[in-house]
Amino acid sequence: MTDRKRFAYKNPKPRCGGNLKTRWNYTEPAYRMAPHVWNVGGQDDVSAYLLDSGEGLILIDTGYEDTLYLLIDHIWRIGYDPADIKKILLSHYHGDHSQGARLIQEMAGGKENCEIWLSEADEINHQRTKDETVPMEVLPYEVTNFYDPQEPIMLGRFVIRTRLTPGHTWGATSFFFDDTDEETGKTYHCAMHGGLGTVMMKPGTQRMEHELMTPEGAFRFIRDCLELAEMDVDINLPSHLNQANLDENLPEDLNDYTWFVNDYSWHDMLVNRDEEVMSYYPEIYPDLVRTIPTLK
Ligand SMILES: [Zn+2]
Repeated sequence: MTDRKRFAYKNPKPRCGGNLKTRWNYTEPAYRMAPHVWNVGGQDDVSAYLLDSGEGLILIDTGYEDTLYLLIDHIWRIGYDPADIKKILLSHYHGDHSQGARLIQEMAGGKENCEIWLSEADEINHQRTKDETVPMEVLPYEVTNFYDPQEPIMLGRFVIRTRLTPGHTWGATSFFFDDTDEETGKTYHCAMHGGLGTVMMKPGTQRMEHELMTPEGAFRFIRDCLELAEMDVDINLPSHLNQANLDENLPEDLNDYTWFVNDYSWHDMLVNRDEEVMSYYPEIYPDLVRTIPTLK
């Protein structure tokens, strides 16, 4: 395997072994991915990123309700207190990213002390589907803030820019911020894409967004991914571990974030997903050639 494939897009395996009742068999440790960023999701499917701003914690996505104990345990283990989380930023409204939101907010002192952010577009989806349990339960949570691409989210050392990146859902939101290591003085461009599951962009697929997602949504996803892929990103923070093949490639020293610094993972992940969606529209992209591999 060449180095370029280490953090390449990998086909997802069944979530937590396909048995959502025994997720503890698929636990992952907490690991540092940037100077002040840790993945504390606790299982091998979906990420939850803890950011230490120096003036309180930020959590990007929360993972599942039934692995929330792992997330809380991981936060303690790396030396932080979940009660210090000031902002919960949700990439999109789906349950695998949001099920912990309300419980963490309660741990952190309620909505006066801990905000829950979502895009306005996904709040419509959230309200429309909040009583549904299929394919995944959405636990009640109340959004306190909407993203504004013109207004970065600021806390302590972090200035987090957001961008609406529809496709997986209409309101999927991506995050961009710099993080500096005070010991070395190096600054890293970090990015997390808000939703790269492409199945809902496949014509005829029956998913909960299906009645909303249109070919125009898929074409916007294709355009956005090509544009985003050209961004200078040093550390790719995938919203699911498989998007950057993290599960098989954790460093021996879980504190060594420099393991994750590279110049291809973000680009290749986005181009891979782009080519996947293009392949759903062969009449529009008849000459599509896959340039970026998918790991099996
Ligand atoms: Zn999703």
